[in-house]
Amino acid sequence: MEQCDVVVVGAGIAGASVASELAIDHRVLLLEREDAAGYHTTGRSAALFTPTYGPPQIRALTRASADFFAQPDSAFCSTPLIRQRDVMMVAREDQLGTLEHTLAALQRETPVDRLVGSDAEAAQPLLRAGHVAAALMNRDSYDIDVDALHGAWLRQFRARGGRTLLGADVVALERRGDTWRVTTSDTEITAPRVVNAAGAWADELACLAGARPVGLVPKRRTVAVVAVPEGYAGLHDTPMVIDVDEQFFLKPEAGRLLVSPADATPSEPCDARPEEYDIALGIDRVQRAFALEVRRVESAWAGLRSFVEDGLPVVGEDPDLAGFFWLCGQGGYGIQTAPAMSWLAAALLRGEAVPESLLAHGVDPMQLSPARGAARD
Ligand SMILES: Cc1cc2nc3c(=O)[nH]c(=O)nc-3n(C[C@H](O)[C@H](O)[C@H](O)COP(=O)(O)OP(=O)(O)OC[C@H]3O[C@@H](n4cnc5c(N)ncnc54)[C@H](O)[C@@H]3O)c2cc1C
Repeated sequence: MEQCDVVVVGAGIAGASVASELAIDHRVLLLEREDAAGYHTTGRSAALFTPTYGPPQIRALTRASADFFAQPDSAFCSTPLIRQRDVMMVAREDQLGTLEHTLAALQRETPVDRLVGSDAEAAQPLLRAGHVAAALMNRDSYDIDVDALHGAWLRQFRARGGRTLLGADVVALERRGDTWRVTTSDTEITAPRVVNAAGAWADELACLAGARPVGLVPKRRTVAVVAVPEGYAGLHDTPMVIDVDEQFFLKPEAGRLLVSPADATPSEPCDARPEEYDIALGIDRVQRAFALEVRRVESAWAGLRSFVEDGLPVVGEDPDLAGFFWLCGQGGYGIQTAPAMSWLAAALLRGEAVPESLLAHGVDPMQLSPARGAARD
C-alpha cells in the first residue's frame, strides 16, 4: 500500500499542471488510465490561445495565463510555447448584431479591431468575396505548442519528486476516516486528498467516490485536415477564422488547413471518433465561406469538450465530501486557461488566499466553485 499527500486522477493538461504545482510542497501521485498521458482531449485540441474566446470567467483565466505562455521560465521549457496567430471572427450581414454584441464585450478587455468585409478579405485571401460583412480582428492570439507545454509540466512534476503511473485505471475510491483509499487496476494508494482531473470522466469518478455529480456533459468536436488550395502558398501566417456564431472555424497549420463545423454533440465519455456527417458538415460550411473545393480529407479527429450547465470550469473541494477536489469542465478552453487554473486549484487545496495575479484579472473562485448552483442543481 503506497501513501502520499495527494492523488491526482487524470494526466491530461489539467492533471499534469496541478500535479506539478502541488509537488512543490506535497508528495503527489499522478494516475492515468491510458498508456499515453495526452491521449484524450489534451492531445486533440486546436491549440489556440485567444483572449476573445468563451464567457467572461474563461477570458479572465486566459488573461491571467498570458504571461506564463509569453515568457516561460527557461528551466520549464527551452522552446517557445506560443507563436503569434491573428484570430478573426467573421459575420455575414445577418450576423452583424452578434458581432456588435461581441465587440462591446471584448473591447474593454483586449485590443480588437472592427474590419469591413473588404479588409477581412485582404487579411484572409481565402475568404469568398462578399461572404463577410464585417469582422473582429484580435492580434493578441497565439498557436500553442501543446505537446511542449504538457511535456514540460510532466517533466517539472518528475523533477519535483512527483510520480506518474500510466495504465493506472482508478476503479474504486473509498473514504476511511480522513483518508482516501484509491484502488487502481494493479495497486492501492492512500492519501488524504484526491484531485478529480478525469476530463470527460469526472462525473464517473465522482460517483465512484460517492460524490454528487456536477452534471458534466462531454461534447464531441470534429476537426478535418485538408490541403491548402493551389495559388495560396502564403497562407500559413494568415488569421484563423471563426464564425461569430461558432458555426465553423478554419485554421492554417503546418502547411495544411484545419477545418471544423464547430460541432458540440453531447456524448458519453469515450474515445471519441469523427463521424462522416460532421466532417461533411464542416467542409460544406467552410466551402460556403472560403474559396475552397475540398476533394480529399487528409485526416480527421474528434475530441470531447466537457461542460457543466453554465459553461464554466469546476474548481474546488466538494461541498459535501471532504478531501475530494474537483478540477474539470474546462470545455473548449482547457489548454489556454491551464496555468491560471492550476494556480487557483493549488491555492484552494493548500487553503491559501487566491493569488492576487488571478483576482486582478477578474477570476472569481465563487463562480467556479463546485458549490455553485450550476454544479449542484
Ligand atoms: C477539437 C478540440 C479543439 C479544442 N481546442 C482548444 C483550443 O484551441 N484551446 C484550448 O485552450 N482548448 C481547446 N480544447 C479544449 C482542451 O483540449 C480541453 O479543455 C483540455 O484538454 C481538457 O484537459 P483535461 O486534462 O481536463 O482532459 P483530458 O486531456 O481528457 O485528460 C483527462 C484524463 O483523465 C483520464 N482518466 C479518466 N478517468 C480515469 C480513471 N478512472 N483513472 C485514471 N485516469 C482516468 C483520461 O484517460 C484522460 O487522459 C479543444 C478540445 C477539442 C476536443
